[in-house]
Amino acid sequence: MSNLVYIDTTKSGGNKQTILGPCPLCAGKGINSNLVLISYKNKETGEPIEFAACELGKEKCGYTINTCNGKIIPSGICPKCQSTTKGIVKKDGSHRQLCDQCETWNLADEDFNIIIPPKCPKCGEHEWVHRSKKEKPNEFYWTCPNKECGVYAKSDIWCSIHTDDDEPKKKKAKK
Ligand SMILES: [Zn+2]
Ligand SMILES: [Zn+2]
Ligand SMILES: [Zn+2]
Repeated sequence: MSNLVYIDTTKSGGNKQTILGPCPLCAGKGINSNLVLISYKNKETGEPIEFAACELGKEKCGYTINTCNGKIIPSGICPKCQSTTKGIVKKDGSHRQLCDQCETWNLADEDFNIIIPPKCPKCGEHEWVHRSKKEKPNEFYWTCPNKECGVYAKSDIWCSIHTDDDEPKKKKAKK
């Protein structure tokens, strides 16, 4: 009996198994095995869940990787410790690259590229943080963690910096 009981969407839903390429863990051992897309709904919450798992199952391999819309989320390299990060889609739909080694949730753009926070142009000391407004969780901005700096830039869910706004984000680069 396979460990991958959740795979039975192939039977009930009539979906074909989607193969997402070779399993990298198996490939490293010289074994040919594929990653298959697992998708199902959480029975209690109805929340869709999806990821890719090695077709050999948990006992023989156990490799899993997150997917987004049926595609494998590319990994990244943690800017802090150079470890391989894991792409994650957060509840609000934003993307992160989580580093298990140093437990850093790196910001990521739409394509899961890691975003390095810009240095605050005012104090030149702190890295800006990416936030959303409390009242409007869909409105994002970058700002210095030091409130006294008072500079910020409008942003979006993918962490870009919007420069075309007439907001008082024009930095005072010189001291
Ligand atoms: Zn495998
Ligand atoms: Zn790291
Ligand atoms: Zn600052």
